[in-house]
Amino acid sequence: MYLHEFQAKGLLRSYGIPVPDGGVASTASDALRVAKELQGDKWVIKAQVHAGGRGKAGGVKIVDKYSSVYDTSTEMLGMKIITKQTGEEGKTVRRILVEEATDIRHEIYLSFMVDRDSEQHVMIASAEGGTEIEELAETNPEAIISEKLSAVVPMGNYQGRKIAKMLGLEGKLINRFAAVAAKLHQVFIEQDCMLLEINPLVIDGKQNVICLDAKVSVDDNALFRHSKVEEMKDYGEMDPQEVRASIYDLSYVSMDGNIGCMVNGAGLAMATMDIIKFYGGEPANFLDVGGGADENKVREAFKIILTDPQVKVILVNIFGGIVRCDLIAKGVLKAAEEVPGDRHLVVRLDGTNVEEGKALINEHAKSSGLSVHAADTMADAAELAVKLANQAEDKEQG
Ligand code: GDP
Ligand code: MN
Repeated sequence: MYLHEFQAKGLLRSYGIPVPDGGVASTASDALRVAKELQGDKWVIKAQVHAGGRGKAGGVKIVDKYSSVYDTSTEMLGMKIITKQTGEEGKTVRRILVEEATDIRHEIYLSFMVDRDSEQHVMIASAEGGTEIEELAETNPEAIISEKLSAVVPMGNYQGRKIAKMLGLEGKLINRFAAVAAKLHQVFIEQDCMLLEINPLVIDGKQNVICLDAKVSVDDNALFRHSKVEEMKDYGEMDPQEVRASIYDLSYVSMDGNIGCMVNGAGLAMATMDIIKFYGGEPANFLDVGGGADENKVREAFKIILTDPQVKVILVNIFGGIVRCDLIAKGVLKAAEEVPGDRHLVVRLDGTNVEEGKALINEHAKSSGLSVHAADTMADAAELAVKLANQAEDKEQG
């Protein structure tokens, strides 16, 4: 789960990490009130959307008059931010962050990530802050420093000092950097983060080390122990189908293909996507109904898949271990009655009561006008699904 910049900065502030003073606003008059409360004579107005590269897309503006705070806020609220990370459709700005402007002398890149290979955390740093790290990795990879860290104990001062020196920092900035880095790592550990990226971490005119931007992603599987973070979830930033799926405890990720998949278990879901690709098809989604898939969940999963207009074929690939195949078949068939006529349904069941399940599917296929097919193996099911999807596309193109 990604946090907005203002939420991430609030979290950092609660740990005593230096971030600029500011407040969030959803109207221009709100923004003006925040600017007046901050006093000062220069402010930054920042679009709060889940995407980096806002600066280049017009989502970060510096202003020096109250009237410009108001006008810039009016312009920014409601505008669409289009960056590499948002795709063509962009993201609508619903809230803005108004901050006192910082007098920047240096911009540093600093981030923390989980390094699965070494089962440790890794800190990435660069003296070339402000630039996106992907770009830096291409144009100037030597400028990127990385340091392995414990996944349990916050980094030591010596590690922070070592990186500070590698970044070319001098004097008291070495210890100041080390202190901020150690606290950031503490946040990373305590909040079960997947990513904590400060780009840029800046040095201001008074030699303060400040987090000017903050991108934080918290592991969804750990949200149960971070209720305050979970409350920050912004459904407006999520794919509506993914929101629906989360209500029913389904893991759903939408993709670009035309074969909708309904599977139980993430491993089986991935294997299903692989085998669809093997036969030359493209999955429209990843949908895991979970181990205890009952009739109701199966119905909801169907509805979610069907809201995707690109779906031509639905491939159900379920292993009935905990749930019986005949019960799944009943749920599938009930949901299938709501399937518009021009879509195909391919069902592959295995596990407990598989014969009863298949018999139900086959009987239904004969008695109804629906295009329902029972397949014996995963390979048969995928091959048939791809064939039917291709036929449907051909028919559509005339
Ligand atoms: P991003 O483009 O989405 O990563 O947004 P950032 O928050 O990183 O802002 C982009 C750039 O705007 C930064 O790299 C800075 O160069 C500039 N910027 C942001 N806030 C300030 C500020 O307070 N003062 C100054 N001078 N520049 C700022
Ligand atoms: Mn940034």
